[in-house]
Amino acid sequence: MLASSDTALLLRQLPKAELHLHLEGMLLPERVTSLAQKYSVRLDADELRCRYDLRGFSQFLELYKWATSFLREPEDYAQLARDSVIALNQQNVIYAEITLSVGVMFLRKQNVAANFAAIREAFLQNAATGAGPHVQFIFDAVRQFGAAPALEVARSAADLSQEGVVAFGLGGDELSVPLCDFRDAFLHAHHHGLHLVCHAGETGGPDQIKDAIDLLGAQRIGHGIAAIRSSALMNTLAERKIPLEICPTSNLRTSALNIQLNSAHCKLADHPLPRLFRHGIPITLSTDDPAMFHTTLLEEYSAALQMGLSLDELRIIARSSFEHAFLPDPARQSFLARLAQSSDSQASVRTVGRAIHNE
Ligand SMILES: [Zn+2]
Repeated sequence: MLASSDTALLLRQLPKAELHLHLEGMLLPERVTSLAQKYSVRLDADELRCRYDLRGFSQFLELYKWATSFLREPEDYAQLARDSVIALNQQNVIYAEITLSVGVMFLRKQNVAANFAAIREAFLQNAATGAGPHVQFIFDAVRQFGAAPALEVARSAADLSQEGVVAFGLGGDELSVPLCDFRDAFLHAHHHGLHLVCHAGETGGPDQIKDAIDLLGAQRIGHGIAAIRSSALMNTLAERKIPLEICPTSNLRTSALNIQLNSAHCKLADHPLPRLFRHGIPITLSTDDPAMFHTTLLEEYSAALQMGLSLDELRIIARSSFEHAFLPDPARQSFLARLAQSSDSQASVRTVGRAIHNE
């Protein structure tokens, strides 16, 4: 058995992909403080601490609304992108699909194209120096805002599909507007060559996942942990190889885990990730909104180990995150080669380590 420090090092060195990561969810309390100062908003330290101390999904939506209210011009988004590059590099994330809450930008009457250009430029500058992860973007609509604003987001994603926007998605409150209302938005995105993702089965039931796939053509499901409540749906996901983007700490902090397991007291160890994975459903591991959930991708991988997954199983999940990324095949193969190379060198280090230990 590897010592925990060895395991931590192996996980850190593992090249990783983040497929479910909201840029706005990278807003650390320190960055909110500096933005508040920039806009001369008085911020009470206790209020800040209290807002970031999450106790459920509605409080999370409230925090998201409040924190993002300090993102007011393109430079604020660019600064957040630069913060994100640093955080992703620390996790050895070499590829990320960054979700942008474009529905929120439109609601605030911001210039989406200008915000996006600033964000893209900030990521590209780092990638050009070899210092940052390779990134692509997902434009996300907000479910509770309704169908018409979602269509506006899909149109904007289509307009920018040559600039690195690869998918259209839907997030927000699953219990608000039915998924069938969003068919036009998803169809528009599909007709313009975009991939499709949807948050479903996070706080809602298995029917939400089924509708996301059957009515909207979702190719990946955000969260999807409600699948654990339907063996028929688990079979479908496994047979059709539809991935679930699993974000364990998010599920704990928003109480989505309590809802799906119908239990008032849940721990990370109770998460259904191992059961979903061992049923043959493709799993990718992500952080969702790491600054708001006080987590990192490394911590999510460590949490999965504590749920009983082996290091080899974690490598399969790391590989799955590249396999289900919205990448052209040559780029995908190049990332997979880097992952394989890393696994080979880790295996040889462990072999040498064992030989030294046995001498
Ligand atoms: Zn999300």
